[in-house]
Amino acid sequence: MLLDDKDVRNYTDILNAFPDKREIIIKAIEFIYEKHKHQKRKSGEPYVNHPIEVAKILLDMNMDLETVIAGLLHDTLEDTDTTYEEIEGMFGKQVADIVNGVSKISKIKPKNIADPEVENYRKMLIAMSKDIRVIIVKLADRLHNMRTLHFLPKEKIIRIAKETMSIYAPIAHRLGMWDIKTELEDLCFMYLFPAEYEKVRKFVARSREALETYIKKYIIPPIKKELDRTGIKADIKYRSKHLYSIWQKTIRKGIKLEDVHDILGVRIIVNEVRDCYIVLGIVHNIFKPVPGKFDDYISLPKPNLYQSLHTTVIGPKGRMVEIQIRTYEMHERAEKGIAAHWAYKEGKKPKIKENFSWLQEIIENIKGSKNTADVINSIKENLFFEEVFVFTPAGDIVVLPAGATPVDFAYHIHTDIGNHCAGAKVNGRIVPLSYRLQQGDQVEILTHPHKKPNPQWLSFVVTSKAKNKIKQALNQEKKEKYRSQGVKLLEKLKERFNMPVENIVEMIKEKTRYVSEEDILINIAKGKLSIKQIINLLSPSEKKVKEEKPEGSLSIEDLKNVMYSVADCCKPVAGDKVYGVLTRLKGVVIHHEECPNLKYIKAKFPEKVLEVSWNAKGKFKARLKVLAKDRMGILSEITSVISEKGANIREAKAKSLTTGIALMDFIIDVRDKDHLNSIISAIREVENVEECGRVFT
Ligand code: MN
Repeated sequence: MLLDDKDVRNYTDILNAFPDKREIIIKAIEFIYEKHKHQKRKSGEPYVNHPIEVAKILLDMNMDLETVIAGLLHDTLEDTDTTYEEIEGMFGKQVADIVNGVSKISKIKPKNIADPEVENYRKMLIAMSKDIRVIIVKLADRLHNMRTLHFLPKEKIIRIAKETMSIYAPIAHRLGMWDIKTELEDLCFMYLFPAEYEKVRKFVARSREALETYIKKYIIPPIKKELDRTGIKADIKYRSKHLYSIWQKTIRKGIKLEDVHDILGVRIIVNEVRDCYIVLGIVHNIFKPVPGKFDDYISLPKPNLYQSLHTTVIGPKGRMVEIQIRTYEMHERAEKGIAAHWAYKEGKKPKIKENFSWLQEIIENIKGSKNTADVINSIKENLFFEEVFVFTPAGDIVVLPAGATPVDFAYHIHTDIGNHCAGAKVNGRIVPLSYRLQQGDQVEILTHPHKKPNPQWLSFVVTSKAKNKIKQALNQEKKEKYRSQGVKLLEKLKERFNMPVENIVEMIKEKTRYVSEEDILINIAKGKLSIKQIINLLSPSEKKVKEEKPEGSLSIEDLKNVMYSVADCCKPVAGDKVYGVLTRLKGVVIHHEECPNLKYIKAKFPEKVLEVSWNAKGKFKARLKVLAKDRMGILSEITSVISEKGANIREAKAKSLTTGIALMDFIIDVRDKDHLNSIISAIREVENVEECGRVFT
């Protein structure tokens, strides 16, 4: 046995708390005596005293065995040669994970604690601790360090106290751990503002006695009497506000210490929720309540799950007294917060609860309350982080929604970085751009000036900023493509009108509703403004290329009684140059001028062929053939281009030719020839497409 009597006295409390687990506790204590044997605290005492005190704090909080052992071991990973595997092998995975978590968060140091981002550090510390017991051990560790801070040099004291005030006390508050929060705050107050601390301490010491006498004489007896009469069992206690909160009140309200009257508050603790309201009624019956000073945190718990009724009443001699009414269970939770959920009652075995399962219970408990949704939302906001906290290479913290990827990160930093994102490193290693960032990751974005956003990114980014910026960039790119396509098409008219493209555009602008050059070029490329229309628009009226029926031809629409149908072989669409073929059974069948069948009939039976014009509206089948270099995903890209254009796909076939070329065959529904042409030009824009055109057979 390594330990002498003096040491044993040090940890008997721990042994007694878990009488049937003495063996493992002794093993843990021997382990840390060995590991820390060469280390001393600044006070000169052996280092092990620190982890033993931390374990005792955890014990006071009624934490479970794993947490207490983790408290004993909490500094071994960081400060000694101990490994995770060693702890796991000797004390199990739970203990090892808690110790590991504590070491991990100890390494995270905010650059500047006055930073507005300090809130994010708090959140991150909690979020990083997948097991909330990690934070509880860390808080116990910090509490003991604060209690023994006076051994350190002055600058270090100030730094640690500031960090505690801005990070750890608020975390304790958020987790509802009132005991720890108030002690941490008072210790920080003492170190950071010694003069003010002394003033408040002396004031409380002076006035406390008088107040106690007052409460004992005037407040408690009448309440007690009434409680006895109604048979409600209750404990009535009083407790002074902690010094820091008294000081804060003088600052917040701009008042003198002497004007703080509620340094002592009365607390009535009952068995059942129902009794809380009955007691409230009794109290208000005896003393006049101060209007606007009543809060019902039972039906609407605070975000940290604090529940209680608060009221302020006017006692004899006109003194205001704050009274809090709650059940024992609420009281336990108010003092110990989250830790209360590991607490065990006397005679019962310690209960280890699954992470956050306590939350489920509380949600069950508050289901009846009106504002359940609000309560749950605030719990989620405060505890269940839907956020991931990561670092830039410079160590700045970035908060993103859970599930965010390096691309989200890149756009968060700057739009240009997102738009030129070429790759990403996380913790020094290359990761796919679709990687889901983890708490504490350090993210570096690799950029390249020629890199452009990929439409695929839209399938994995989660922030709306990234989504919008990617879409914007893709649209811009598309627009530019359309523009140059429009210019190309207009160039064909240069000779006809004997003027440069810019002038043609100017003339179109004059004669149409289009307002910008860009608008015109894009619409030309999309087929919404056809070359034929432009020629008509810009030609002197006598030279117009008439779209009306040529002389001697027959307009199908005019002949109401003619039965006609559309040939399935060549699949003409509205706007095509077509011919009608007279048949006995089907009336007039309309064929495309390029149709081989039509050509045959024309040659053999010219009398059966009518020249017709056809301006029907509706839905027409058309057949397209596409040749492309074979690659992954090309078929789906083309089909999505077609559906983006608003066309229905009836049939799609694809086969790979041995030459590495894919041949695709589509039958689609279109509105008219312009619609069809716009689809053809869009397909031609798809990467690796070599040819796209109609098929008339
Ligand atoms: Mn420590």
